[in-house]
Order: sequence, then structure tokens, then C-alpha cells
Amino acid sequence: MIKIDCHSHTIASDGALTPEALVAMAEKMQLTHLAVTDHDTMASVAKATQAAIGTGVTVIPGVEISVTWLGRTIHVLGLNVDIHNAELLEGLRGLLKVRGDRAVKIAEGLEKVGVKQPLEHVKTFAKGELISRTHFAQVLIEQGFANNVKQVFKRYLVNKKPGAVEGDWAPLADAVSWITAAGGDAVIAHPARYKLTRTKLIQLIGDFKNAGGVGLEVVSSSHSSNEIHIFADLAVKQEMFASRGSDYHGLEGQWAKLGHIADLPKKCVPIWSKWGLETTPV
Ligand code: AMP
Ligand code: MN
Ligand code: MN
Ligand code: MN
Repeated sequence: MIKIDCHSHTIASDGALTPEALVAMAEKMQLTHLAVTDHDTMASVAKATQAAIGTGVTVIPGVEISVTWLGRTIHVLGLNVDIHNAELLEGLRGLLKVRGDRAVKIAEGLEKVGVKQPLEHVKTFAKGELISRTHFAQVLIEQGFANNVKQVFKRYLVNKKPGAVEGDWAPLADAVSWITAAGGDAVIAHPARYKLTRTKLIQLIGDFKNAGGVGLEVVSSSHSSNEIHIFADLAVKQEMFASRGSDYHGLEGQWAKLGHIADLPKKCVPIWSKWGLETTPV
């Protein structure tokens, strides 16, 4: 029987674990399959794949792409992608530049409220090539502006707060087409997180499917059991494949354990059935 988690992060983006440590954690949790899906980079995938040799874990190459859709930030997972695909790599390179420019603006905002040298400090927390808001959160905690990551986001990094800067991410259709070009499957990540009205959600799914997107992350650590049922129904109605991922970051205080999330409801067609994996509940 397979045990699969299709959403996880490493130090290449805002996770706490190296790819090697993440694979060791997957082995400890007795997972058979783990998708490594860092924000806007695939830098850890080859290392994770290498580390998994000789373990019971198979690494599924992936990425979580930041998208701007109608002024909102949406995350699109690319699962089972070819990490050497030029089109996908080029697209991600563009997002790296967006992140660099955004980091400068976030730092300016934070400096105004007394954070000391945010840009210099954030680079000590970012272990990979990209800077995430989670890294800024760590700077603010270090300098005593808040006690935990959640608190920092609320007070400094969202809405109209001093370090809130909207990223100008990839257009939805571009992100989906890079993933498809790389032979992967595009999946809307944690759909409940966007707080969309039903109408907007259906519109998002319509645009996503028109671009070639095929899946919905039905089970996520950010979904309540009620939300899991809502999105399972929606996936069935919209004839989309369903995915299941913990969104594990390995950060202290994170509630979700790797692989420790609900099973996909039985009515769903798992995205991994497309990859020839068994589809009995995991
Ligand atoms: P970024 O892609 O750099 O804008 O950062 C987004 C990341 O910040 C998400 O993937 C989460 O890991 C984290 N994040 C977003 N909102 C919150 C929050 N309210 N509390 C804690 N972490 C958050
Ligand atoms: Mn994250
Ligand atoms: Mn996400
Ligand atoms: Mn994620």
C-alpha cells in the first residue's frame, strides 16, 4: 500500500529541513512517495532524489508556483515535472527576480518601523537562492518584534502593514503552461486558503482548466474536515484529479507532520492514478 504526501518544502524555499533531512523524515514517517514542492524553485529536487536512493521513499519532482490571478496570489503545484525543462526553469528564473525586487520593497517598509538592516539579515535566514516572507518573519522574531511567525505575518507582512508588498507573480496560464511543458500535472494548492466566493472559485477553476490545469489539492493541512468534503465534491463535479499534501515546512511550531493528514475521500480520483500508482486509500 502506498503512503503519499504531495506537498512539502525544504531550505531551497522557506522550509527548515535540507532535502536530505526531509527525505529522512519521510522515511521515519514511513512514506512511500513524497513530492518536494518548494516555492518557485526546484533546487532541492535532485538532492532529495539522490538521498532517497536505497530508502523506501520515492521522490516526486515538484514545485509550488506563485501566481497572480485577478490581483490575488494563488499557489499552483506542478507535480511530476521534468526538472530540466527549459521553459519551466526560465519561468521560475523570472519569479526569482520578482522575489528579489519584492524583498527590497519589504525591507524598505520594515526599516521604517525600526527593523535593523532587514535585507542583510534576511539573507542569513534564506539558505537557498530565494527570499520568502517566512525569512523576513524570522528576522523580526530575532529582533524581538514578535514571538512567532503567525504573529509577525499578522502585524507586519499582510494587508496594509509596513512590510506588506503584493508580489507581481506569474500569470495563471503561464504557470500552468510551464508545468505542462515540463510533462507535469498542475494542481491548485490549498484552495480554501484564498477565501474566494463560490463564484470566484468556479471562475478560477474555469481559467485553470482552460490553461490545462487538472487537479485540486483536496486534502491539505490548511483545510478543515468540512473544507475537505467541500473540495472533494468540487473536484468530482469539475472532473478534476484530487491531491493530498501536508505542506510540511519543518518549522518549529508547525502543526502538520509530514504525511499526517486525512486520506482522500473515496469519491475522489487521486492525481497519482495518472502516474500509475495504486489508488486504494492511503
Ligand atoms: P511568500 O511566498 O514569500 O509570499 O511567502 C508565503 C509563505 O509564507 C507561505 O508559503 C507560508 O509558508 C508563509 N505564510 C503565509 N501566511 C502565513 C501566516 N499567516 N502565518 C504563517 N506563515 C504564513
Ligand atoms: Mn511556505
Ligand atoms: Mn502555498
Ligand atoms: Mn506550500
